[in-house]
Amino acid sequence: MRLADVRGHDRVRAILARALARDRLPPALLFAGPDGVGKKTLALAVAQAVLCERAPAGEACGECRACRKISAALAPERLEELRNEADRHPDEDVWRNFRLHPDLVLAEGWWLTKAGRARPEPEIRVDQVRDLIAEIAGAPFEARRRAFVVDDAHTMNEAAQNALLKSLEEPPPRSHVILVSASPLALRQTIRSRCQLVRFGPLPRAAVAAHLVERRGTPEEEARTRAALAGGSLGAALAFESEAYGQMREGLVALLERAEALDPLARMEAAEALEQSEDPALLLTTLRSLLRDLLALRAGAPLESLVHADIAERLAPLASGRLGEQAGLLAERAGEARSALRGFANKLLTFDLLVDALAGD
Ligand SMILES: [Zn+2]
Repeated sequence: MRLADVRGHDRVRAILARALARDRLPPALLFAGPDGVGKKTLALAVAQAVLCERAPAGEACGECRACRKISAALAPERLEELRNEADRHPDEDVWRNFRLHPDLVLAEGWWLTKAGRARPEPEIRVDQVRDLIAEIAGAPFEARRRAFVVDDAHTMNEAAQNALLKSLEEPPPRSHVILVSASPLALRQTIRSRCQLVRFGPLPRAAVAAHLVERRGTPEEEARTRAALAGGSLGAALAFESEAYGQMREGLVALLERAEALDPLARMEAAEALEQSEDPALLLTTLRSLLRDLLALRAGAPLESLVHADIAERLAPLASGRLGEQAGLLAERAGEARSALRGFANKLLTFDLLVDALAGD
């Protein structure tokens, strides 16, 4: 992964490339910005440039021994193997410090407890950070320098953050640490103050769409609408392709189709089912986009212009009925529910009210 291969973030890439070319890359960096925009990808590209044996003009050459090793380690199936191996040993903290090259470690949080149970959010543990600190303090094995990427750095628990702080206070001369986080404010201020902050904005829609077309073979029309739906997050745009996403959307369409026939008990059951969703924000974004498609259909928009063009024949009958009439208002309700869930709203109650609105109350 080279800096030039990363999509978007032209300004950030240019600044980092210049720092690398002048050998002025700060010892500690914090890459902060929304999920799914490429922060970790860019952090790994910087790490590769740091380790590259040639690094012409601060960019990894892509051909030397170090570059080849890192590319091989970053192959998705190889990373998956490392993650599976770690999950088989949930009591061994260091297993989630993945060594991608003798001098490059990628640290990720645990999704399992030490007893092997699933966690709602990942956690980076103190033992894992202690192992990392020992690595950071060490001299390079092969390259001139060492690089450490800590993904979702805000998931370091308090003890872990305290431990890492000492490393950042006195950075060893030949190590670079890059913290990656979508919630930088969850990091201790003392950690943030020791890192050079690099902010990432959302990706332009065109960049997300181009990635879908070129790398995933998504048809252009569909790529544009998915990019619009994803709000500048490539991660979200890719999630729309997954089987789980397809099932979730199917559940929503089925709910819209029978919304008016639901008795009070069935409505409560439907609300409970929505509440159980793994990603309520994505679910509500999808519901809103389905309702907007109904609006567009009523306004006579061509089928291929819909976000959900692939199921236009199922949306058309809904558009001509009561749901279609109220689609504008209901889409707004879905948007409001999404905002409400970002705050402290009761999830089940929010979905109860939303299902009632869909059913025509
Ligand atoms: Zn190289």
